[in-house]
Amino acid sequence: MTDFAATKALFSLPEGMIYLDGNSLGPMPRSAAERVRKTVEDEWGEMLITGWNKAGWMQQPTAIGDRIARLIGAEPGHVVMGDTLSIKVYQAVAAALELNPTRKVVLSDSGNFPSDLYMVEGLIKSLGPDYALRVVAPEEVSAHITEDVAVLMLTEVDYRTGRKHDMRALTEQAHAAGVLTVWDLAHSAGALPVDLAGCKADFAVGCTYKYLNSGPGGPAFIYVAPRHADTSRPALSGWLGHAAPFDFDLSYKPGSGIERMRVGTPPILQLAALEASMDIWDMADMADVRAKSIALCDLFITEVEARCPDLTLASPRDGRQRGSQVSFHFAQGYAAMQALIARGVVGDFRAPDIMRFGFTPLYIDEADVRAAVDILEDVMTNALWDRPEYHMRNAVT
Ligand SMILES: *Cc1c(COP(=O)(O)O)cnc(C)c1O
Repeated sequence: MTDFAATKALFSLPEGMIYLDGNSLGPMPRSAAERVRKTVEDEWGEMLITGWNKAGWMQQPTAIGDRIARLIGAEPGHVVMGDTLSIKVYQAVAAALELNPTRKVVLSDSGNFPSDLYMVEGLIKSLGPDYALRVVAPEEVSAHITEDVAVLMLTEVDYRTGRKHDMRALTEQAHAAGVLTVWDLAHSAGALPVDLAGCKADFAVGCTYKYLNSGPGGPAFIYVAPRHADTSRPALSGWLGHAAPFDFDLSYKPGSGIERMRVGTPPILQLAALEASMDIWDMADMADVRAKSIALCDLFITEVEARCPDLTLASPRDGRQRGSQVSFHFAQGYAAMQALIARGVVGDFRAPDIMRFGFTPLYIDEADVRAAVDILEDVMTNALWDRPEYHMRNAVT
């Protein structure tokens, strides 16, 4: 059993704050500052360029990739860290399209995060007028997996509502129709058990600054199924994905397996912060995380519906069909969220009217949920959100 009291004690959470936004930016592991200090002072400061060899910096992207692989059901040696998620989406979709050359359509859904759709729009524009992005409603995806589709690109868990796709069933259906799959795990990795190998997913990508707590700007990861690892061509063919970067050949030759999905120099300081978080994740069993996440979300829904009648549930009621977040519709949701944040309950807002709350068992427990609902009830019943300063929109909502 995962000891959640022990994991909670390993995070730095400001006194008096109930942090329900770990689905957007995870909190800092207490050991992160010391871990990063060590990399800055003892490695960069003392070793300088020799750190690439002596401190093992060059192997960090695959070493940490293996630790993430355990959380997402990937085969060891098939996940690598680097770049941002948007870049990894581009790489995965470009590689998948090339593996299915007689077809030109990328299928996705309107619940996807806009950046994923933007990246594909940009990619197909470069590929030429034969290519198309087809975006359908989330519940219509299955009906649109047709024999002209090359790649199905979906985010498993909807960032606004938390609605979860059935990765196993959709991947199986896609394969039966000759379609390759790219799964975005931004709201899955560290939120719920994922079984990439068991589902026979072709490609997957995800970020680490949400549930995996690597800090702002932490690197993304990419997974390529072993059967595609040596035949996928990385559209972004950077020198660190080359078979022999330090031969400085004038032409590109892809490295073996997942190594070829590397692009440029890895972000060593961010990877150090991520390592501190992975030390905590190593203590966690994803089945325990899932069970507690569903219990916390269910409790929140029951309490909010009983005490805040103006909020309507935007997330699936059935925990098995949700990620690790709960969202409610409220027309004045932005102002209500600001009023909550002013009282120490931190969630976020997604246009047009969604108040979003993330539940992260490593550091959120039942007492936090109950305390958060007490404050939410006060904000709602006494309309504490109705003050001019709570209506002023910040750049990041
Ligand atoms: C958070 C998120 C992103 C963000 O991409 P970055 O390049 O890391 O800024 C992209 N896609 C999805 C599905 C996300 O949830």
